[in-house]
Amino acid sequence: MTDTNELIRLSAADLAAKLSAGDVTSVEVTQAYLDRIAAVDGQVNAFLHVNAEEALAVAAEVDAIRAAGGAAAEELHELAGVPIAVKDLIVTIGQPTTAGSKILEGWHSPYDATVIKKLRAAKMPILGKTNLDEFAMGSSTEHSAYGPTRNPWDLERIPGGSGGGSAAAVAAFEAPLALGTDTGGSIRQPGAVTGTVGVKPTYGAVSRYGAIAMASSLDQIGPVSRTVLDSALLQEVIGGHDPQDSTSLTDPFDNLVAAARTGNVEGMKIGIIKELHGEGYQAGVENRFNESLELLKDAGAEIVEVSCPNFKYALGAYYLIMPSEVSSNLAKFDGVRFGLRVLPKEGPMTIERVMGATRAAGFGDEVKRRIILGTYALSAGYYDAYYGSAQKVRTLIQRDFDAAFAQADVLISPTAPTTAFKLGEKLNDPLAMYLNDVATIPANMAGVPGLSLPGGLADEDGLPVGIQLLAPAREDARLYRVGAVLESLLEEKWGGPLLDRAPELQAPALDAANTVGGSN
Ligand code: GLN
Repeated sequence: MTDTNELIRLSAADLAAKLSAGDVTSVEVTQAYLDRIAAVDGQVNAFLHVNAEEALAVAAEVDAIRAAGGAAAEELHELAGVPIAVKDLIVTIGQPTTAGSKILEGWHSPYDATVIKKLRAAKMPILGKTNLDEFAMGSSTEHSAYGPTRNPWDLERIPGGSGGGSAAAVAAFEAPLALGTDTGGSIRQPGAVTGTVGVKPTYGAVSRYGAIAMASSLDQIGPVSRTVLDSALLQEVIGGHDPQDSTSLTDPFDNLVAAARTGNVEGMKIGIIKELHGEGYQAGVENRFNESLELLKDAGAEIVEVSCPNFKYALGAYYLIMPSEVSSNLAKFDGVRFGLRVLPKEGPMTIERVMGATRAAGFGDEVKRRIILGTYALSAGYYDAYYGSAQKVRTLIQRDFDAAFAQADVLISPTAPTTAFKLGEKLNDPLAMYLNDVATIPANMAGVPGLSLPGGLADEDGLPVGIQLLAPAREDARLYRVGAVLESLLEEKWGGPLLDRAPELQAPALDAANTVGGSN
């Protein structure tokens, strides 16, 4: 039997192989992760809810099927028995879903998101729900109503956001895989600052049914993992057409794992986006980025430079379109239909006043800020000047991508301008917080897929740097093909997976308790 410390560090693909070879059981694997969560999550705060009982029951079911053999065992999905964590924006039967907000505290969904149904069909034990910025609004997970998640590389720093919980869980070996959602970068930017892999698939490649909507035209569910291949495996589980999502594509997206396994960049054109590096990017980020370009060039890729002049307006346009959609999507949290209800302290008990009291108490400042901004941008008299102009910019960004992809097969940039910053550093400066997404937002505006992978550690602070790859819509496989090559070249250069160099998390309280228990 494998040592549990080794077990939790295996990739999902390696775990799957061990499970099907009978070297280890899913109960052992799942228990190892639950033990790890118990040991370190007091410090990391990646999980809002741990789903131990159900996860172990699913694991036991997989083990029983495997032990019995025959057709049922053969039909098991490749990832059957491999546990996963889920961002708490995705609804699940049998577990709370909070969206990181007080307004949904204690709320249980009566249905499963499509991606959850698919995880259940694949018999992947769900370890629990992970922390996030309230309704996925933020870049640091500090806007969660349930306290911030901490970066496993340095507990005084942010794990990125909004999906900091999913990224930190995977980086801290509390889960081999996780689901995230990405509206402006919330899978990729947390991936960058925690040294993990995160993918925003093509818009429509993964069903959004059951992902609590932030900005529906930008939102996308995607994988979080420690390797490129693992993300490909997971995207194939969760992807595919869903009639319950009217924007769901009919393409099968079933060539991702094959692409990750046969990575090759020879003769490919890789385009550096002129506007997405250089000024405003930390020196260590820029150094790792340049190194990745050299590695790709040595592997036979041709590096070209492309210009996307309208990307400089992407952030501004995003902060009009996204809040506009937010103001509409969050209108349903009214104190009547879901979760929290707060009654006004005095005065008449009208529906408007109950709604006002509930929303005042249930929503945090960042959510209120965006609802107000969005309501303003959509109001008569301002609509054309703000929302209308932002939509035009969106079209220009899509055209920039079209022009860039006429010159290059894949585009490349740093994922985020800096490494993980300190908790509290940008909390009171919304604009500084928003700037974290300057390199990730264009992909959401155009619906194209993006992948972030660890590109090494920045010289000045020793913290992870993310490299982002972008491909044309529907060409997710290309990201996995190039990503897998770059990942293996980087591992060769750095002498192994980046996460092996993260400091070991200590669990003082629990260790002490174990020592007492162990001495009798
Ligand atoms: N950080 C960005 C925002 O605050 C992106 C959020 C997301 O992708 N969910 O809007």
